[in-house]
Amino acid sequence: CGIIGCILNNEKAAPVLLECVKRLEYRGYDSIGIATSGSDITIKKDKGKIDDVQANLKLTDLPGEMGIAHVRWATHGLPTKENAHPHTDCKNRIAVVHNGIIENYKELKSQLEKEGHIFKSETDTEVIPHLIEKYMEQGNNLEDATRLAIGDLKGSYALAAISRDEPNKVVGARKESPLIVGKGTGEYFIASDVPAILKHTNKVIYLEDNEMVILSDDGITIKDPEGKVIEKEIFVIEWTP
Ligand code: GLU
Repeated sequence: CGIIGCILNNEKAAPVLLECVKRLEYRGYDSIGIATSGSDITIKKDKGKIDDVQANLKLTDLPGEMGIAHVRWATHGLPTKENAHPHTDCKNRIAVVHNGIIENYKELKSQLEKEGHIFKSETDTEVIPHLIEKYMEQGNNLEDATRLAIGDLKGSYALAAISRDEPNKVVGARKESPLIVGKGTGEYFIASDVPAILKHTNKVIYLEDNEMVILSDDGITIKDPEGKVIEKEIFVIEWTP
């Protein structure tokens, strides 16, 4: 339903992710979750209202200056803690949040299970971190593994992925589900909707279907489906709080 990713500069990511994700609340949701990356990936998630989950789990305590967050509107799998995003690979090295529907997830899941992957949820989304894991184990970095993974997907997605092995990177991709990029000063965002990040920056890039974005400490890189860097217009959104 709603996704956020960010890389901040000398500021803890979890409180910012929570505040941004709260601005997507109006769309309706049943679960909330955050993953951040410091020396390791740490995740807190549950079904329920954002304020209740924050009160119970202290989402904002998660360490690290970068991460991803999600509010879920369940399409595959009931609203439960296990089905809440972020979802991970077998070794909790990769975390993914996703909006949309993966239409061929059953085929992908049974193939991955044959290859030894163990699933923890009933969601369509969980095939994505396992596909990224498979391609990273074949020697690809997070960006290339994500490109290969989305090549296997049928359906719609806006997604954000992080990996313990590349702790200062957020990779985003979209097809038939909106994803925008926010360019702050030394801090970078992706989000499913502009209002989520306007408090932090009003400089916005709109991604098209099949484009990918890589946020890193060095800034924002946008690539076409073949992996070629492309320049995109930055829009300045006029906004009064
Ligand atoms: N299809 C995914 C799920 O059921 C994502 C739903 C959403 O867009 O929130 O978990």
